[in-house]
Amino acid sequence: MAIMELPDFPPKADLLTEIYQPLPKLTATVDWDALDASTTAEQVVRGFSTALEGADKNALADHFLADQSYWRDTLAITSHLRTFKGRDVIELVLTEQNRQRRIHGIAITPGSAQIVAASESLKWLDCFFTFKTTAPQATCTGRLMLLPQVSEHGPAHWKVWTLSTWLSGFDMYPEDESLLRTPSKPLQQSGEDHLSTDVLIIGGGNAGLLAAARLKALGVDYLVIDQNANVGDNWSLRYDCLRFHVGNSFCETPYLPYPQATTNGLTRDELANQIKRFADEFRIRVLHRTTVKATAYDNESRSWALQLLCDKAEKTVSCKHLVLATGVGFQGPYMPELPGVGQYKGINMHSASYKNARLLAERGVKSVLVIGSANTAFDVMEECYDAGLRTTMVQRSPTYVIPMSYLLHPEGLGIYDYVPAEIGDAITQAGPLAVGGPLLGHAHAKLAAAEPERYVDLAKAGFQVTNCTQSDLVAHLVDRCGGHFVDIGTGVELLATKKVGIKSGVSPTSYTDSGLKFTDGSTLDADAIIWCTGFRGIDIRQGLSGILGDGAEAIQNKMDATWGADAEGEVRGLWKRHANVDNFWIFGGGTAQHRWYSKVIALQIKGILEGILPEAYRDVPTTSSQ
Ligand SMILES: Cc1cc2nc3c(=O)[nH]c(=O)nc-3n(C[C@H](O)[C@H](O)[C@H](O)COP(=O)(O)OP(=O)(O)OC[C@H]3O[C@@H](n4cnc5c(N)ncnc54)[C@H](O)[C@@H]3O)c2cc1C
Repeated sequence: MAIMELPDFPPKADLLTEIYQPLPKLTATVDWDALDASTTAEQVVRGFSTALEGADKNALADHFLADQSYWRDTLAITSHLRTFKGRDVIELVLTEQNRQRRIHGIAITPGSAQIVAASESLKWLDCFFTFKTTAPQATCTGRLMLLPQVSEHGPAHWKVWTLSTWLSGFDMYPEDESLLRTPSKPLQQSGEDHLSTDVLIIGGGNAGLLAAARLKALGVDYLVIDQNANVGDNWSLRYDCLRFHVGNSFCETPYLPYPQATTNGLTRDELANQIKRFADEFRIRVLHRTTVKATAYDNESRSWALQLLCDKAEKTVSCKHLVLATGVGFQGPYMPELPGVGQYKGINMHSASYKNARLLAERGVKSVLVIGSANTAFDVMEECYDAGLRTTMVQRSPTYVIPMSYLLHPEGLGIYDYVPAEIGDAITQAGPLAVGGPLLGHAHAKLAAAEPERYVDLAKAGFQVTNCTQSDLVAHLVDRCGGHFVDIGTGVELLATKKVGIKSGVSPTSYTDSGLKFTDGSTLDADAIIWCTGFRGIDIRQGLSGILGDGAEAIQNKMDATWGADAEGEVRGLWKRHANVDNFWIFGGGTAQHRWYSKVIALQIKGILEGILPEAYRDVPTTSSQ
């Protein structure tokens, strides 16, 4: 499938060079042991509140670091997902938006203030606070990260390094969890074949079902459709040995915790069973074996009309909002088209079709080439080796490798083992990427620097490693939705001890009768080739016609690109209103993003349906200093 030329809209920024900033270093001397975190944070919050509510611009600006300050807002004040940088811009937008939102009741969250240390040269005072807005009437939450600044006279001044604010709920329309367990009210039907609903969600994987539950808890009518036959098939149809490579606490589903799992790293079946439990428990309405044949938006009625193919029957559906939740990287499997494919006599498949190594062995396979070097390639490689197959991994270029133990560390995503998921998400999802990315990278780099020998044997065996001092997890996730390898131990050992072969620094150029030929002219033979080469791309516009059918083109040309960060470090096209397509939502990501952004999307939809969500603030303010 050819890649279409589509506008780079909004323009993609380079996360590492344009968005990430070097972490600040402490300039003021503070007796951290003697610091009364609660009293100090409370004073700052009170001062911030007085300045904001009193519209005292100078006092408000004075709360922030001059250049290295950030404010990220998720719906609370801008009714959008925005990040602002620098004292003057932050003051300008806060003041302007506060005229509309009328913020009041800012109060520190009791017990939330604490000192956090990333290193000896970077410690900060951290606290949460709550506030209200009048228009719309809403309850919001915020978080401050405060750095001490040198003061000529007396103790250090505390300045805002980052401010994060987010909408917790509309006061008139609070989330009601009891609605989750009541049956969804019947869909409006006119005749046999026409349905109408407030929200149609395409895709009933974790993202789609969580969004449905959030909407249900807000009393919003919805329908989920999915091409699969059963809830959970988004996991069950994948390869048998799939397991997650993060802590279980990071993966919790809202409203319904996982049953106590024994070890970290949820298995495919645990993932499938949990999402089935979730859908059953909350009676989520899903129409299975259903795809979209055609889609159109009517500007006048501000509603969508879709033609569905349900099994073999056709139905039409009208809805006010359309949510696309069809998968994280969105596109179909990627397998390079190489000459000679017809001449290869072995088994040739993408990892999306791979089930297990036993099936290969039963078909007489004795040797296998695993193309790729990220998570799936390692899963497949290990299983093939365990099944007694002679296994070789082919690595095109260096792979970013992060040990799972780093992901379990409390300075990183392991924070979820110590705080409820909602607080973990506030810390990892609600803040500016410009700060959150480098902080997580710093924690990982520190751990990697403490064990420089960790991958020496792996490198000696020929596998090219980019370690955590050299690259960054968030950049991999935002720019590529993956491509990294989380080391859980066994795969690295198999390569380092040469139980599994490695061919590195080459790409396949063509098939031979018995294997592959590579860019260096060499060949490798194998009875099977498994392409663990990922998916076709991360911009959902490229595959939109496969999801929306006829009519997709009109939307494709107007909608935002997906994934990659924009000039503010906001992920493009996901979880928020698009600039040029109304009532249209793209929902993708990993498990923490499902949990956090399902609520973000549901609140926006509820707000629009009730007519209380203000226009998204889209200005790009500049100040005289810029
Ligand atoms: C091997 C692997 C390992 C992973 N490891 C981790 C990890 O360690 N930690 C982590 O947080 N995340 C991990 N992830 C990523 C992530 O959590 C999942 O990919 C995520 O759950 C995606 O959920 P989703 O609902 O967005 O998409 P999916 O699970 O892909 O669900 C999409 C649904 O949409 C349906 N659909 C698609 N197209 C159409 C269409 N045209 N019409 C109708 N229905 C359609 C599909 O049938 C499917 O049910 C991993 C993913 C994989 C594949």
